[in-house]
Amino acid sequence: MSDCLFCRIAARQSPAEIVYEDDAVVAFKDIYPKAPVHLLIVPRRHIASLTDARDDDANTLGRCVLVARRLAEATGYSERGFRLSVNTGPEGGQVVYHVHFHFTAGRRQRADA
Ligand code: 5GP
Ligand code: ZN
Repeated sequence: MSDCLFCRIAARQSPAEIVYEDDAVVAFKDIYPKAPVHLLIVPRRHIASLTDARDDDANTLGRCVLVARRLAEATGYSERGFRLSVNTGPEGGQVVYHVHFHFTAGRRQRADA
């Protein structure tokens, strides 16, 4: 079994409230939500951090971004808007080293956080 939490969630070897999945991308609820809607969008393929992404990850990462559009439609936030963010590295606040896009919505987002 992988020692990466998000690899295990993507493989359904660890529990999570999965809200979307396809062959390349999985999205699930953040266990400690920081907004009324707080979802994490991850590639199935293990990429530790954006700094480890390769040029041939472009399609996979692009698909993660497009899943955000789909989640906005599904949760009703397309018009009101949402935030998509990727914490990267120690000073970027990254805690889990498997690339993930935070999808947050449901209250006005601060400009810098
Ligand atoms: P980071 O700080 O790495 O950008 O964000 C990691 C996120 O993963 C945090 O928002 C945290 O709440 C979430 N998280 C950590 N452990 C778990 C878990 O076991 N399950 C789920 N669903 N989310 C988790
Ligand atoms: Zn992983």
